[in-house]
Amino acid sequence: MEGTLTARDKVGVQDFVLLDAYTSESAFLENLRKRFRENLIYTYIGTLLVSVNPYQELGIYTASQMELYQGVNFFELPPHVYAVADNAYRMMCSELNNHFILISGESGAGKTEASKKILQYFAVTCPMTESLQIARDRLLLSIPILEAFGNAKTPRNDNSSRFGKYMDIQFDFQGVPVGGHIISYLIEKSRVVYQNHGERNFHIFYQLLAGGEVERLTSLGLEQDPQLYKYLSQGHCTRESPINDKNDWKTVSNAFSVIDFTEADLESLFGIIASVLHLGNICFKGDKQGCASIPDTHEIKWIAKLLGVCPVVLLEALTHRKIEAKTEEVICPLTVELSVYARDAMAKAVYGRTFTWLVNKINSSLVNKDFTQKTVIGLLDIYGFEVFDKNGFEQFCINYCNEKLQQLLIERTLKAEQAEYESEGIEWEPVQYFNNKIICDLVEERHRGIMSILDEECIRPGPATDLSFLEKLEEKVGTHAHFQTRKLAGPKGRKRIGWLEFCLLHYAGEVTYSTKGFLEKNNDLLYRHLKEVLCRSKNSILRECFLVAELENRRRPPTVGTQFKNSLSSLLELLISKEPSYIRCIKPNERKEPSKFDDFLISHQIKYLGLMEHLRVRRAGFAYRRKYEHFLQRYKSLCPDTWPHWHGPPGEGVERLIKYIGYQPQDYKLGKTKIFIRFPRTLFATEDAFEFS
Ligand code: ADP
Ligand code: MG
Repeated sequence: MEGTLTARDKVGVQDFVLLDAYTSESAFLENLRKRFRENLIYTYIGTLLVSVNPYQELGIYTASQMELYQGVNFFELPPHVYAVADNAYRMMCSELNNHFILISGESGAGKTEASKKILQYFAVTCPMTESLQIARDRLLLSIPILEAFGNAKTPRNDNSSRFGKYMDIQFDFQGVPVGGHIISYLIEKSRVVYQNHGERNFHIFYQLLAGGEVERLTSLGLEQDPQLYKYLSQGHCTRESPINDKNDWKTVSNAFSVIDFTEADLESLFGIIASVLHLGNICFKGDKQGCASIPDTHEIKWIAKLLGVCPVVLLEALTHRKIEAKTEEVICPLTVELSVYARDAMAKAVYGRTFTWLVNKINSSLVNKDFTQKTVIGLLDIYGFEVFDKNGFEQFCINYCNEKLQQLLIERTLKAEQAEYESEGIEWEPVQYFNNKIICDLVEERHRGIMSILDEECIRPGPATDLSFLEKLEEKVGTHAHFQTRKLAGPKGRKRIGWLEFCLLHYAGEVTYSTKGFLEKNNDLLYRHLKEVLCRSKNSILRECFLVAELENRRRPPTVGTQFKNSLSSLLELLISKEPSYIRCIKPNERKEPSKFDDFLISHQIKYLGLMEHLRVRRAGFAYRRKYEHFLQRYKSLCPDTWPHWHGPPGEGVERLIKYIGYQPQDYKLGKTKIFIRFPRTLFATEDAFEFS
């Protein structure tokens, strides 16, 4: 007995449900620490997987590990991302239903790596026919392409995903992966034109310069040195180890050739990438009246050539604006400041839409018409809750997204729990939990929510500003329990809220947002003049991205906030019909260091990932449940008098077994197919007895 206790003291418990002091956050933290010290990065809370980024290669993703987890009962092996993948897969195959695996956590916590490990697991372990190998390869190779165009170096992560990703892996009725589909969410376009210190633009720019063939670069009018490009060098870290742009270029080039990209596609694509770089290098000069001009037209000529547009019209569109009067169009000059704005807006629009084109292109290559898709497993790798020193419109959208997903988790967890007790005929006491619907409503409610108020300010005639938006918020939602501004902040020692700021009390904690830039980012305006230029482009990709019909349609396109809200609501609809698995990723320290366990940082994440709450729900009523067959199979050796001779229904077997071991009536309940154990110590004792038998 003592021996096991020592082992447990050393490596902790592999399921937090077995933790005696399950309400204590420090016990939770301690367990995580013990395991992390032993390089055990995975721990369960029931079926939810908690993962701590090891920041080192652990050798736990080998082919033999994959084999080990294949078809094995969830709790029989140490926790692993493969177990979650395998469990979803087995359930999908046996019950013929759809699943999703939601991976969340803050930037750098290991979400993208986890999603890649899962995809690899399926690629290696699922049954496969020769004709389907290409589908598998395309699915795997879509990753480096999307990472090249959608990931960037930030201080938190050298390979930070700057978009949300949902990927369906489609299986046929025999569980063979036959295809896939990807949906992307809110790519961070602002990065194309500006990066903070220590950050880079999207990888693809640097990869092209470092790895692109000399002829290709020459034909694009580019030089190899990234320092020469304004859009690439603002973060002062163009060449950053351990990033190897040259090697990554090779990987991406190879991926392009496997995924149906023709030479013509690539020419258009890199024409666009190069044009963005040329755009960034355009300099404007103001005359005495303050009107902008472009003294050096070198860049304009290249862009015109690469995008197939008229250089004169492009130059005019970058320095002038068309205003529609009643009967005619008036063309008025822009100031230098507005020209810079127009230039950056063009770069962002072109890049953003090209990214969407890329996702569509990959999707069309993942469609497999020869096979009937039966079921899917969806992988959601999406930005976690973000709290920075300065939080803007992006954080607002991201945190709103997390509110929605939290709601899904709470609802699904509680609902599933309740449904299980009901179907098994077990009485239980419901757990109190904080329902964050109130915060979702505050953000999204029609006409009354923050998104609607923002949209109204964006279309209101007359000068709307970030301040007038804040004042509208104060007027309309000022009394809401989860909203505060400086003007309305109570005296209760809340943290300081500044001028032009508001604070939301999210389920995961308080976040102060600056309204600076909210209107502009939500509007995401591209001057009509520039839109006309792009709609007439001869570049084959831009022709698909900017349709002439858009010019004829005088209605405003939906704002960025509204689009995001709508895409989230379709995502939730997608998810709600599927069976969930959850992976919560934790970042152990801010320095990307192996073996460093930062208590403060980690307890913060435990809080906002809702892990304590999840554990509480899991522990309420019954901490553990197991199918009669599985329980019997594991522990029947404890009762050598009866087994192996006894044969009968597993439920009866379990009854005999627990009587023999000495379970007290208050310790357990017997359902229709499962035994429910109230306290972990009961199972603990059985587990200990088992290990020493
Ligand atoms: P996120 O997507 O959550 O922002 P990533 O998955 O990109 O984070 O992980 C950031 C970095 O951490 C990776 O580039 C890798 O170096 C390291 N990392 C993450 N997960 C693991 C893991 N399971 N094993 C080893 N290193 C990892
Ligand atoms: Mg990521």
